[in-house]
Amino acid sequence: MLKALPEKVKIVEVGPRDGLQNEKTIVSTQDKIKFILLLAKAGLKSIEATSFVRHDKIPQMTDSKEVMLALQKENQFKNLHLPCLVPNLKGLEIANSSGAKEIAVFSSTSDTFNKKNINATVEESLERLDPVIEEALNLGMKVRGYISTVFGCPYEGKTKSLEKLKKVLSFYLDKGVYEVSLGDTIGHGNPLEVTSVLRELRKDFDIKSLAMHMHDTRGMALANILASLEMGITVFDSSAGGLGGCPYAKGASGNCATEELVYLFESMGISTGINLSELIKASSFILDKVKKEGPSKFFMAYKKENNS
Ligand code: MG
Repeated sequence: MLKALPEKVKIVEVGPRDGLQNEKTIVSTQDKIKFILLLAKAGLKSIEATSFVRHDKIPQMTDSKEVMLALQKENQFKNLHLPCLVPNLKGLEIANSSGAKEIAVFSSTSDTFNKKNINATVEESLERLDPVIEEALNLGMKVRGYISTVFGCPYEGKTKSLEKLKKVLSFYLDKGVYEVSLGDTIGHGNPLEVTSVLRELRKDFDIKSLAMHMHDTRGMALANILASLEMGITVFDSSAGGLGGCPYAKGASGNCATEELVYLFESMGISTGINLSELIKASSFILDKVKKEGPSKFFMAYKKENNS
């Protein structure tokens, strides 16, 4: 087990967007900016900063424009990748006028999930994204893609979605998306499934263009991440402090905690470029703001050991 591991991996921090979007408490603009800067100080280079979505649907992201404009005044800004989630051309327009240099777009492998989420089938969502990606690339932006429900859907359950997955993935890569993140939206996957899906994808796609976005809803995130690592994946999404919860199961864990991921890799001699104690400061700061202690086990252990 675990042969030929990479020397380093890249962690994409999704806390400020995917995390905060799924928290009940709305964090102030100033605190969001401070959180992102603390993450950057810890060594994170790619931080999903916000989303340009409808404010009535996602009130947590109402200040997306202010956040992006304020970040550009910071010294570290030029060295950071700050993708912003964009659902359509309108969102892209605002992202562009806010100075965003990178966007993230999303679809899934489940028509039911897509219908409930954005009122479009998978096919329709790709038609909608087509001009968004094209325009973003014309504007000189980088585009990252998400595919949700890869290992199961909250409405359809375990989906036999390999064909659809390949279709969405081909669409993204053919359009010029530089990295596609495969999401286990409700933490349904297990290491054998992850291995088998990635083994299939490796036949047709470059594994280096893929990232994994594993959720810890059933405590499987790190196991699934290790399985992905062994299949050649070196990019992983996670959220400081495990911020975000699970939008489909109240009180359950959602995003994998960044500190757990960093500890896993660094303790095995795989470099992440992230300073754990600085990262804990970022997690501590934001968990305090959303008035939560968990669900990151590493965070709780660290606090206990350091009496803080
Ligand atoms: Mg997530």
